[in-house]
Amino acid sequence: MSKRFPDLITVLDEAYTTLSPDRTCVMSFDREGRMVGFFRDGLTYRRALDSRVLLRWREDRRHRRWLSGPEAFNVYRDVYALAREVYPETAGELRRRLEEEILTWTPRMLLNEERRFRSVYHPIPILPPDQYRSVVLQVTEGCTWNRCTFCNFYKGRRFRMRTLSQFRKHIQAVKRLFGKGLRMRKGLFLGDGNALALNADRLLEYIKATRESFPDEPVYGFVDVFSGERHTVDEWKALRESGLHRVYIGMETGSDELLRFLNKPGSGDDVLGLVSDLKQAGVAVSPIVMVGIGGDAFREQHARATLRVLERMELGADDILYISPFIEFEETEYARQRREAGIRALDEAEMEREYDRLCSAARSLGIKTSRYDIRDFIY
Ligand code: SF4
Repeated sequence: MSKRFPDLITVLDEAYTTLSPDRTCVMSFDREGRMVGFFRDGLTYRRALDSRVLLRWREDRRHRRWLSGPEAFNVYRDVYALAREVYPETAGELRRRLEEEILTWTPRMLLNEERRFRSVYHPIPILPPDQYRSVVLQVTEGCTWNRCTFCNFYKGRRFRMRTLSQFRKHIQAVKRLFGKGLRMRKGLFLGDGNALALNADRLLEYIKATRESFPDEPVYGFVDVFSGERHTVDEWKALRESGLHRVYIGMETGSDELLRFLNKPGSGDDVLGLVSDLKQAGVAVSPIVMVGIGGDAFREQHARATLRVLERMELGADDILYISPFIEFEETEYARQRREAGIRALDEAEMEREYDRLCSAARSLGIKTSRYDIRDFIY
């Protein structure tokens, strides 16, 4: 029993180490010894792989913000100082992990992880919520379309594809960056925006390369309706047999008129066709719908048309519908066009009502639904 920390609780998992010196504070580390999370006095800090820190707290509603570099440094300083205080009173496996993993890091070294991250990855602007703990492997950079008015994820970045040999090197670099931190990860996400749009034969080669390094991990990726449609059912089957488990479809809405307003190709019928192909091939799907997009002008049309498409979509137990409250970015074409058209953006309460409405309508159809808040994204 520790004298200075009588309430000390530890979890020595194969994938991570957690220390709670007292009831107000919990810190966790990956098996390289890098902080991954810190909770203190109602504030939760999560460290991203590039060493930025996302702070979350609750005060009436959920809040979150990214810390500045100096603020992140202070969090690391506090966490590692606390780990040092605990160290003299530890023994056995915990002491060994503190010596060989955790206390080998300084706040400055952790901040420098950002440089290592940037040497391995292009920026990763978004992942589906159940993929924050996957290993991202960037087959491509950017998006083949990149012209949806509301989307700024890949703006200014030209679509590029890694050659197979570049991709193999990328996989090795990703493995080195994670080190033993890989133990906390589950699944492989093929980036970026619509990597699954690549020609099926080529895609099979890339998936094979990922499976050589990560033999049993399921593979995931985004696909947009207009690119995903290009694969036949047999091609999707071959991709599923090679390890593809689930695809995330940026459906946004069932309203074709709203899709045109957003400059997004495809239609509600196209989504149905793609989902039907994927289901025939045995690939799980996650359509993503955005509530609030199109503001008050499209509110009813968007809700009704989306539900009509969902009613015809045969989703099963493996599938999840993601509903994402729309976040408007000031600098986008969408924001300019909305203002010019005199469309009012929904306020937060209206957005939540739309969320609840679609969520309960989808659930009454037996569809599994989940929230997708892009502000919570962290990799
Ligand atoms: S297709 Fe997807 S990633 Fe590409 S611009 Fe549109 S929303 Fe963004």
